Amino acid sequence: MHQPDFTLTAGPISASPRTLAALGSPIVFDYDPVFLERFAALERKVAALYAGTKSDIVLMQGEAVLGLEATARSLVRPGMTCLNLASGVYGKWFGRWLAEYGADLVELEVPYDEAVDPAAVERVFRERPEIELVSVVHSETPSGTVNPIHEICPIAKRHGALTIVDCVSSLGGTEVRPDDWGLDVCIAGPQKCLSGPPGMSLVAVSDDAWAAIRANPAAPRGSFLSLLDWKETWIEGGRTQFPYTPSVAEVHGVSAACDDVLEEGLPAVIERHDRAAAACRAGIRAMGLEPWAKSDEIATNCVTAVRKPDGAEIAGILRHARERYGVMLSAGYGELKPKLLRIGHMGVASRSLNVVVGLSALGRTLADFGVPVRTGDGVEAALEVLSAGAGVGSVA
Ligand SMILES: *Cc1c(COP(=O)(O)O)cnc(C)c1O
Repeated sequence: MHQPDFTLTAGPISASPRTLAALGSPIVFDYDPVFLERFAALERKVAALYAGTKSDIVLMQGEAVLGLEATARSLVRPGMTCLNLASGVYGKWFGRWLAEYGADLVELEVPYDEAVDPAAVERVFRERPEIELVSVVHSETPSGTVNPIHEICPIAKRHGALTIVDCVSSLGGTEVRPDDWGLDVCIAGPQKCLSGPPGMSLVAVSDDAWAAIRANPAAPRGSFLSLLDWKETWIEGGRTQFPYTPSVAEVHGVSAACDDVLEEGLPAVIERHDRAAAACRAGIRAMGLEPWAKSDEIATNCVTAVRKPDGAEIAGILRHARERYGVMLSAGYGELKPKLLRIGHMGVASRSLNVVVGLSALGRTLADFGVPVRTGDGVEAALEVLSAGAGVGSVA
């Protein structure tokens, strides 16, 4: 089988030619001064993506789950009261880590087609003022929804709690402002809106979070899961000593992916994601299908989740779109697997007419299964949104 012609998934997705070329750069010795500078430069690029945060950037050398798990391990003390906000599969998963490391877990869970209401967070704090830590997922990729972290996290800070934010699929596609919104630890991945390779955790750690980690006897040291090792060895050691050998090729690839975004300009990249998502939702509705998210206000801009129509099964739809049309789409994840389909429009997949390809592949596939859909109407509606404001001669 060949590779798909279009990878319009929930990540990993395709990389730019520049990122692919960078991944093929010579493998250098990690203590070569050239590599030390590249590593430090990548931290500065990631800080720029996090709205120029003053937090330390820790580039953990494994897929984003490493950064998420390391953060939970580092901050949770046995018996500490933690509030986990669960509006989807990843949020729920994070709560299990908190509990496993000994947290007294308070969970605010909402149906997975909704977002967390900041007023509900305020109410939980009034009932449980002893909460010391709040964890939340920014963009819930499996259900295509987004939580208002710019409202939720300031509430937590006002009540003296630390915040952990999973922004794996939002960084590079949506604003993430740790310093303005009181985000203590943010964890992102390069393989979503940045179109990078899936082998690194891009973690931003505030001074308050470092103080709490240092004060936590349960925080790992001398471990792949240790954030403190990076602080004490690399950052405080003047960026001359790594706790362990970094993934040299990934550093090159992720640097190029960040360069792509920073050179185009983060606001322009975010606008492109917004437009692709709006076009996709317009297309889905015009085809006669239904977005999964209850309202457009809570729809994430990196992926559009679509309720499964009657008359076809998810696995069959995905296989047919992939084999017949060369387009890779995503199913749901976890318990959402049989309920929805996803068209990804993150990173390079948010460019050009990729959304139209995704809608066409989904529409034709459903038609091939005998499901009534208006694919042409969907394509027209998506093109209408994509071309808004583009006069003759200025089509991007
Ligand atoms: C992709 C993603 C992760 C990382 O999980 P994987 O299943 O390893 O890709 C974590 N959180 C969110 C919100 C994600 O989108």
